[in-house]
Amino acid sequence: MKYTLEERIQKVYEIAKEVYLGNISVSQGARIVADFGLKQSSALDYIYAYYKLREGKLYTRTINAYATDYYLKEIYYEFGNIGLRKALLSLDQHITYYEQTSGAKVKKGREIYNRYFDLVKENYAETVFPDEVDNEIKYFEGKTKQIIVNSYERNQLARQECIEHFGLSCQVCDFNFQEKFGELGRNFIHVHHLIDIATVGKEYSVNPKTDLIPVCPNCHAMLHKKKPAFSILELKQLIK
Ligand SMILES: [Zn+2]
Ligand SMILES: [Zn+2]
Repeated sequence: MKYTLEERIQKVYEIAKEVYLGNISVSQGARIVADFGLKQSSALDYIYAYYKLREGKLYTRTINAYATDYYLKEIYYEFGNIGLRKALLSLDQHITYYEQTSGAKVKKGREIYNRYFDLVKENYAETVFPDEVDNEIKYFEGKTKQIIVNSYERNQLARQECIEHFGLSCQVCDFNFQEKFGELGRNFIHVHHLIDIATVGKEYSVNPKTDLIPVCPNCHAMLHKKKPAFSILELKQLIK
């Protein structure tokens, strides 16, 4: 029996899902996928990518454009906005990682990203002010690492997930822009990246609930008065 590439990808998706759900093991999954004519090694890449897309994490090995598109479509269909947002967070990290490590542009991947991002973006098009910190990161060695980690503070999807978890009040001083400024301050907050960039490995993927935190621009500026930055607790203790 011969399968087209499209058919193979569709099968792989089903198998990857079974692995993700724990119904079959990774090696069982890879063996079944291999029976559809994919090499064992790329079978693993496809299973691994599905797992990361569902978790909103970085995947480093590339899957083809058809598969990327198909995975996102199916995830959106099955898991709606929340599922798609996680998958996009994962894809964005993948593209950033790939572009920074290979020096090549991932045009197809960006196209796919933008197309699906259009489906989820209207909920929070202008929710957060783009802060960030290009110049504070200069002193770290390794341009790749800088850019990858720096992109997390700018990533809309990561920010949004962080804000949904913590709310819109500053986690240092409790300032809330909407309480102070009414409608004008609605949805306004900075998002700070907690992980010390110098300690982050090349394959680091962001967890919006543990690695990012909402802070007001004043506290954000104070956090970055020291390098590496103050911790939230340290800054809290400094407030009189
Ligand atoms: Zn504050
Ligand atoms: Zn910051």
